[in-house]
Amino acid sequence: MDWDRLLKEATRYLQEYIRIETVNPPGNEIEGARFFKKIFDSEAIPCQIFEPSPGRGSLLATLKGDGSKRPILLLSHIDVVPVEKEGWEFPPFEGVIKDGYLYGRGALDNKSMGIVEMMALLILKRENISLKRDLIFFATADEETGGTWGVQWAMDNVPSLMEAEYALNEGGEIILNEDGSPNQYGISNAQKDIFQLKLKAKGRAGHASMPHPENPNVKLVHSLEALTRWETPYHILPTVKEYFYKLAPKQPPYERPFFEDIGKGLNDPSFSVWLTSNPIFNAMLRNTISLTVLQGGSKANVIPSESSATLDCRLIPGANKEEFLKEVKRRLGDDVEVEVIVENDSLSPSPLDTEFFKAIEEWAGGHDPGCPVVPLLLPGATDSRFLRKQGIVTYDFIPFRLTEKELMSVHGNNERIELENLRFGTKALLEILKNIAA
Ligand SMILES: [Zn+2]
Repeated sequence: MDWDRLLKEATRYLQEYIRIETVNPPGNEIEGARFFKKIFDSEAIPCQIFEPSPGRGSLLATLKGDGSKRPILLLSHIDVVPVEKEGWEFPPFEGVIKDGYLYGRGALDNKSMGIVEMMALLILKRENISLKRDLIFFATADEETGGTWGVQWAMDNVPSLMEAEYALNEGGEIILNEDGSPNQYGISNAQKDIFQLKLKAKGRAGHASMPHPENPNVKLVHSLEALTRWETPYHILPTVKEYFYKLAPKQPPYERPFFEDIGKGLNDPSFSVWLTSNPIFNAMLRNTISLTVLQGGSKANVIPSESSATLDCRLIPGANKEEFLKEVKRRLGDDVEVEVIVENDSLSPSPLDTEFFKAIEEWAGGHDPGCPVVPLLLPGATDSRFLRKQGIVTYDFIPFRLTEKELMSVHGNNERIELENLRFGTKALLEILKNIAA
């Protein structure tokens, strides 16, 4: 295979795709869907556009297998988050290439994944590889604002998707050390549950020159002070235990036993303080509470009659929500009313003893022998929650090699991808798909 030519092709496609502005809101993903349709049509791969609401388009293409095994779903999203143009070195919707990097909104999140998945399908088709499974490419609308017009809609309206045995989506990658050596292959098989609360404190309005104890702002602040000091208990899922266990060999000798049995490790006070000072580790180990919105009063000399706050809580899958809520209320005290405003279903992690996970592990082992392949519990939410809800075994993994610094450009300024990742990612996906579907 002429990989230089294929890399040029993938690069050109990604540039074209980034030039289609699909900032959500409003999304306008239909233009991205049409972009893919043109390519799949020209390669004679059957595809179809869905547009459940004007402009909110998704595209589904299927490379047929013989049906002896169930399909694999290759997911990506067309929409991107807004940009602060002033902060960018290059215009974010032009696909500028500089020093081997392609810059643009969506370069990592998540347009490159769509391109790599498409390239894998095109190559399998061109090479006439016979498949046991259908490979379903699905580029979707509306991931960045909740999935209503994308995957969530599709799960209710596109029955063929439900036949998928496995799905691959965004969320994990190969993390590199600063020197460029691989640190870990992170494959997410679970994510935390969203549980958002609105708090309200009521009081008595009055002139600020005469303070009184019925000031709702003061009540709210005191309650929040008590709640946000809460160190929620550890709740260690088997998949998280495995994550730390697999990282153990990379730790300095005195920390290794703590990683090998993270439950015991956390009993060591100084280790647990050190470990949970890392926000990602901390989020994987316990329910978390973020105070995100505070509202109260509008004038310097007026005590308002009401104030409110919003808490974004993320719970370990399977955590008892009622118990959690009860404890939140107890800590807030009687001065504050609590209402649950957003809550998603708790979904168990996708299993790891599957053909698909083993195929990824095998490929990783061949590539970087000894580098840990770790399951991740994602603190944030992706569209994978809609797939897991339908029983589809879903892994969040994109085979790109990224440094922490590159990852920081996701949703930030100067989002970029090293072009070599397009070659590496396409090759990797091709290898994994051949292993499990050919
Ligand atoms: Zn994304």
